[in-house]
Amino acid sequence: MVDNQYTLLRELKKHAKEENIPIMSDKGINYLTNFVIKHHIENVLEIGTAVGFSAISMALANPKLKIVSIERDEARYLEAVKNIKEFGLEDRITLIFKDALETKVEGEFDLIFIDAAKGQNINFFEKFSKNLSQEGYIITDNMKFHGYVDKDEKEIKSRNLRGLVRKIKEYKVFLEENEYFKTTFSDIGDGLAITERIEK
Ligand code: SAH
Ligand code: MG
Repeated sequence: MVDNQYTLLRELKKHAKEENIPIMSDKGINYLTNFVIKHHIENVLEIGTAVGFSAISMALANPKLKIVSIERDEARYLEAVKNIKEFGLEDRITLIFKDALETKVEGEFDLIFIDAAKGQNINFFEKFSKNLSQEGYIITDNMKFHGYVDKDEKEIKSRNLRGLVRKIKEYKVFLEENEYFKTTFSDIGDGLAITERIEK
């Protein structure tokens, strides 16, 4: 990464934090960028662009990488368009402004990164695992959900939050019991699930 890009990325991160946009943590993004290098990932489908931080980070980490990323929030999508232009990555990052569950995506990807509405993870997985290449991976962010997933439910005062935590736990069981996919869970960042096909 050249100096100028490094500065831009730091500014993007600072700005996102100020606006309370839940971008990936430093440790999480570090893992993800190393992952795309190590596994020679060239095609990524990202669910949940926000302002483009994770997409830009992955694209900068691997110059061969192309990304299709979906975002349903208009303001964030527009911000991401602007950011990606600033980095000159328009030719490698394609943004789709739509609800991912209503989006038909063509083609195969060697990494699907799920980082959108946490209560919908099973739906995202079932829909987009059809777009996964034979040797591909699915990585899901926020499996710990800021530590709430490991907390006693009684300690979680908000009903919405309890519902969300339950959904994440259900997703975890869904992955653990999946016949076709095996998953490792990592405590890195806000918790990552790294999934691949069983028959390899
Ligand atoms: N991957 C980003 C952070 C994404 S935050 C990064 O680390 O830089 C999660 C984003 O997913 C939010 O911007 C939210 O608007 C979006 N989102 C949630 N549900 C969605 C859906 N069903 N379809 C598309 N985007 C969704
Ligand atoms: Mg996340």
